[in-house]
Amino acid sequence: MKPLADGTLPHEGSPYWVALKQFEEAASVLGLDEGMRSFLRHPKRELTVNFPVTMDDGSLRMFTGYRVHHNTVRGPTKGGIRYHPLVDLNEMRALAMWMTWKCAVVNIPFGGAKGGVIVDPDELSINELRKLTRRYATEISILMSPEGDIPSPDVNTNQQIMAWIMDTYSMHKGYSVTAVVTGKPVEIGGSLGRQAATGCGVMLTTREALKMHGKTYSDVTVAVQGFGYVGSFTAKLMATEGATIVAVSDVSGGVANSNGLDTEALISYVEQNKFVQDFPGGDAITNEELLAYKCDVLAPCALENQITSQNADRVRAWILAEGANGPTTPEADKILEDKGVFIIPDILCNAGGVTVSYFEWVQSLQSFFWSENQISDRLEHIILEAFHAVMSEAEVRKIGKRVAAQVLAIDRVVKATELRGIYP
Ligand code: NAD
Repeated sequence: MKPLADGTLPHEGSPYWVALKQFEEAASVLGLDEGMRSFLRHPKRELTVNFPVTMDDGSLRMFTGYRVHHNTVRGPTKGGIRYHPLVDLNEMRALAMWMTWKCAVVNIPFGGAKGGVIVDPDELSINELRKLTRRYATEISILMSPEGDIPSPDVNTNQQIMAWIMDTYSMHKGYSVTAVVTGKPVEIGGSLGRQAATGCGVMLTTREALKMHGKTYSDVTVAVQGFGYVGSFTAKLMATEGATIVAVSDVSGGVANSNGLDTEALISYVEQNKFVQDFPGGDAITNEELLAYKCDVLAPCALENQITSQNADRVRAWILAEGANGPTTPEADKILEDKGVFIIPDILCNAGGVTVSYFEWVQSLQSFFWSENQISDRLEHIILEAFHAVMSEAEVRKIGKRVAAQVLAIDRVVKATELRGIYP
């Protein structure tokens, strides 16, 4: 693997290493020359911010955050903001790169970005969380704008945090700038359907994969890792379509019932108890057991690097629906492919969120809002078109679906780069 221009070489197995390894494979299929490869390997710009927050007890605590823009050739950058103790610059680089490919695979006019703060938000009071968010938003506001970079929620961030970011940016401008973030509440310019959008994309792409095998949701069992924003909507929507959800998990552990879990009851339980642990409708399992649970569809919807060379051979599902970004390592990919697992790669599977974020951005810019039906019809149209484009790329080139999705996406970015030319 080639280092970046500043000598950076991500350590083997890290998310950025995984992203670069996937990129090199797709770049080889496309026959890209080293100049173009090098351009696409590099993030365009990166900002590290160290900032103070006054805690409730009067003490001052420093936090570190990032915002990385990977590529802006196809439009302004789009990407989530994550609050997590394990956030680091290389993780942000990987996630920003995947966002570029994700936007390109669904053919929406954005480049990729990602941001995050090293923090466990559970350790903060609501007041501290609000202050941290407003200060971080202020620090990254030199990169953020409706025309340049539009954040959205990711792990441990939500509608409320987007509302605070939008308000902070607007206070600095002196007027409301609703299009600066997506995933904000509907009351302040958010889009109908955004909350469910990522899970909806996972549900739609999996439905198409099932169709290709002559099956419907009523024929299958599903296990979902991660029961946050993406995982809970994935489980709920698949259950509504007739699937039997046999296992779910979160950071606290998991719960399983081979006869099916009541997803609505689980969602209410998590609203009250925060975690799925001790849910009375099933038996306790670990996250490792969940990944190996007997089911037809496994939907990892938590973090990167969950399915690895250590556990891939234990996966019993025959469809892998990647709600999370980067849940599967390249070594695990090979094991799963050899086992005949049908992989719906992350940049396609979880692209429903950024697609409705695109709709939200358009609506916010125009202050003209669409109905829920318009949104779900347009989402379905875009996701299905991308799904079938990836399947035909895989078929024509005789390559795996992950490489096919990346090839389709990278080719679009390359074409845009060639048309614009390298400045000056
Ligand atoms: P979230 O914070 O709402 O939920 C994350 C869930 O994962 C929680 O249930 C948490 O308990 C669980 N989790 C955390 N660490 C875990 C571990 N080690 N083992 C098992 N479970 C664990 O976050 P989210 O927005 O649902 O994001 C989940 C994934 O989906 C991330 O990879 C994110 O980048 C990706 N994603 C999110 C969106 C979006 O719109 N929010 C869009 C596309 C992709």
